[in-house]
Amino acid sequence: MKRTCLALAGALVLLSAAARPVQQAAKPAVPDFPVRYEELTSPDFVQAVARSGATCIIPLGILEKHGPHLPLGTDLIDCREVSLRAAAKEYTIVFPPYFVGQIFEAKNQPGTIAYGSRMLLDVLQQTCDELARNGIRKIILVNGHGGNDSLLRYFCQSQLESRRDYAVYLFDPAFDAATEARLAKLRKTAVDGHAGEEETSVMLAHHPDLVHLDRAGAESGEDVKRLAGLKYAYTGIWWYAGQPNHYRGDGSAGNKEFGQALFEAESGLLVEMIRSVKKDTVTLELQKRFFDDAAKPLETKPFKR
Ligand SMILES: [Zn+2]
Repeated sequence: MKRTCLALAGALVLLSAAARPVQQAAKPAVPDFPVRYEELTSPDFVQAVARSGATCIIPLGILEKHGPHLPLGTDLIDCREVSLRAAAKEYTIVFPPYFVGQIFEAKNQPGTIAYGSRMLLDVLQQTCDELARNGIRKIILVNGHGGNDSLLRYFCQSQLESRRDYAVYLFDPAFDAATEARLAKLRKTAVDGHAGEEETSVMLAHHPDLVHLDRAGAESGEDVKRLAGLKYAYTGIWWYAGQPNHYRGDGSAGNKEFGQALFEAESGLLVEMIRSVKKDTVTLELQKRFFDDAAKPLETKPFKR
């Protein structure tokens, strides 16, 4: 499922046109130093923690069907690319593709790997704990999979369960009106949401070899609205009710230009986010104060400016 990340599209043409000269002029702060966690040597990792300001991105995707034409790992592949592009401009460590996520709604489709609900939280928490044990103080979750949206917000909330000396930040991109308008001009289809025009375009922009465009029309990505009679209600079968093929939209409309625009918009916002997270001292300070108070709530004093 596409996610807010590469899916919300934004930005583009103007942004990209304006940004390109700057991109060419400005070199990454730390050229030739690996950003991929698995490519760092152990001694280099020590340097990487310092260079990154003790930050690390975990790019979260999933293994699930993406229409009849895109690879199972689409979210993993795209999301990590956004992270790598951003890290090339603002150094941070990028964790390996992380495929443990919420995807029960696609268990009826070939290739889906759907781990149990409790395990999802445990593995992610322990991954964060292990990064923190290795000196990372600020962990950035970059989500490429729509089915993770609620899980990751809950995960962030659950960081207040007990004291910890690191913070978790979820990348939560929002394009401005001008960007949305620009993207709207590039968009050809009205219905999208999973393996449709956006995700197909993004994959075409960096991995055309993995796109089987001629198969995109082999199944229907129409919303068949089988729960249209239900009012003011949310239920877990909602996605399957509308998208029985686990496909929403029409990947045939995918094109490289739209994908490139989405990439540039998304990674641009992520660069801004990384910079703001590096500068942020308030979150960890507030967390400490909160946990101090939470240990002795009867002694908590009214907040005054
Ligand atoms: Zn997807």
